[in-house]
Amino acid sequence: MLLEVRDLSVNYGHIEAIRDLSFEVPEGTVVTLIGANGAGKSTTLKTISGLRKIRAGSVFYEGKDLAKVSPDRRVQMGISQSPEGRGIFPGMTVRENLEMGAYVRRDRNTAALAPDFERVLTLFPRLQERIKQPAGNLSGGEQQMLAIGRALMAQPRLLLLDEPSMGLAPKLIHQIFRIIEEINSQGTTVLLVEQNAAQALRRADHAYLLETGEIVRSGTGAELAGDAAVRAAYLGGD
Ligand code: ATP
Repeated sequence: MLLEVRDLSVNYGHIEAIRDLSFEVPEGTVVTLIGANGAGKSTTLKTISGLRKIRAGSVFYEGKDLAKVSPDRRVQMGISQSPEGRGIFPGMTVRENLEMGAYVRRDRNTAALAPDFERVLTLFPRLQERIKQPAGNLSGGEQQMLAIGRALMAQPRLLLLDEPSMGLAPKLIHQIFRIIEEINSQGTTVLLVEQNAAQALRRADHAYLLETGEIVRSGTGAELAGDAAVRAAYLGGD
């Protein structure tokens, strides 16, 4: 098991953002957490990255308890997140943003990074075209691609994606999901948080539905896509 989240609870002050959350991400799979706004999806990813403090429960990565592991060290161990709202550096060029993704790597010399640049720019040819431009000049879809590309520069074994389809036109949404599939087929395990449940479930080996901080359903992507309650609340009832 690559990632195991066990009985996890996280608070913001008195607000319980997630409660007793347990789920697993097997190596090589795509696992998705779906649910409405505020269900606790982002909080879960941030806690795995080490950006939020655990109130109770544990996160295990490759069997190791991450409680005392710093966020930077987690990236070095292979956990890399593409954040919600993209979080790119608008004043830096596309190339510089990608280089930032590798900043905790011990081998971040030009030769070592070359294959990773190659991988990212092959996945996202648009970024190659815009490599010297300030990231702030990119369109929303291109910024999303850059955020994913930057996360890949850390050579993750586990890629955490927070709402990669947010704010994108339908055609681009389709493209982003296709690229996520490709990243996965190249051997990277993916934990995907999405409000776009239909698209996410189609690609997921396993899926969990969160409601107000708790898991209320789980199954294969196909099982959840066929679940009456999921269909009514999250798939437009069709
Ligand atoms: P979204 O898609 O809107 O990000 P989400 O499922 O990712 O939704 P979270 O952002 O994890 O949900 O939020 C879970 C709960 O924690 C919500 O009740 C939210 O209001 C609360 N919350 C999130 N961030 C903060 C914060 N910085 N301070 C206080 N409460 C927060």
